[in-house]
Amino acid sequence: MRAVTFQAPGEVRIEDRPEPEVVDPGDAVVKIEATGVCGSDLHIYHGRVKIEPGFTIGHEYVGTVIAVGDAVTRVAVGDRVLGCFHSACGICFHCLRGEYHRCVESRTFGHGATLGALQGTQAEQALVPHADIVLRKVPEGMGADTALFAGDVMGTGFHAVDASGLRPGDVAAVLGLGPVGLCAVQAAKAAGAAHVIAVDAVEERLKIAESFGAEPIHLTEQDARESVRAATEGRGVDVCVDAVGDPRALESAIRLTRPCGAIQCIGVYAERAEIHLGLLWLKSITLRGGQANVIAHVDRVLAMMSAGVLDPTPLVTKHMSLDEAVEAYEIYDRREALKIVLTP
Ligand SMILES: [Zn+2]
Ligand SMILES: [Zn+2]
Repeated sequence: MRAVTFQAPGEVRIEDRPEPEVVDPGDAVVKIEATGVCGSDLHIYHGRVKIEPGFTIGHEYVGTVIAVGDAVTRVAVGDRVLGCFHSACGICFHCLRGEYHRCVESRTFGHGATLGALQGTQAEQALVPHADIVLRKVPEGMGADTALFAGDVMGTGFHAVDASGLRPGDVAAVLGLGPVGLCAVQAAKAAGAAHVIAVDAVEERLKIAESFGAEPIHLTEQDARESVRAATEGRGVDVCVDAVGDPRALESAIRLTRPCGAIQCIGVYAERAEIHLGLLWLKSITLRGGQANVIAHVDRVLAMMSAGVLDPTPLVTKHMSLDEAVEAYEIYDRREALKIVLTP
């Protein structure tokens, strides 16, 4: 089968790979119908996240189950399914507490040996471990461009808002309007935010945020503090989502958030960073971060997408065939598309 593999920084390739087979009783094999190219794939593409040359990448997927192990009961051969971006065992200390994102046996699709050596989904087929936990049936009538967001991007935007403790009537700010930030805008509105201030420097992204009901603020041409003051009688926002993953964004979040408010870091931090911790302390701000617990949210996200309360489809700005993956990565790297969906 054909698969998109990482070769070296700036180089991916379409290669022939053996078709996956069920090994463990909890496994399923999914024939891929559509698979997304994600910002985290770009980290691999740039060599910032190190994986082995020849490893299949990708972790957003919709498809049809073509084989299952004996222990799989919740999905069957022929089911149209979507999956989460990582697997979880369901029985470890963390899984029993619903903290699937910290599962001690968690394996992330398409991220090499350090994250569980699980081959990616930008391929004709993918092996899915713990299929009962990782896969969900696609609700009747839902298109691939919607469904493939449930187990990653929308699940992450939803998590950012859910974990922030946002309450109906709150004013929220979302910093960074990549796909996750834009999904967080929708999730905040759906959770009852009275007003959402959305900050980015890319005009196209600001327009989409506005169409989702947010007040768009250009990072360099406008002053986010002014808008926040105007919307909150000078207090600051109740909740701020940092969907950038840069200390400058976090520092700005601390300044925009009201005393006793909350900041949720969903953007990725992997290194030591300097922020004004004193300001955070003086304002009694709650700061939380980490990867999204998408397995815990996927059923609610699907229900809300089915009902049209959440609708990520405007984020898909380009469709290409899996065979065009090399070009797709170049286009995505130049930020000429918000979300590219590949079809084998
Ligand atoms: Zn992703
Ligand atoms: Zn576990």
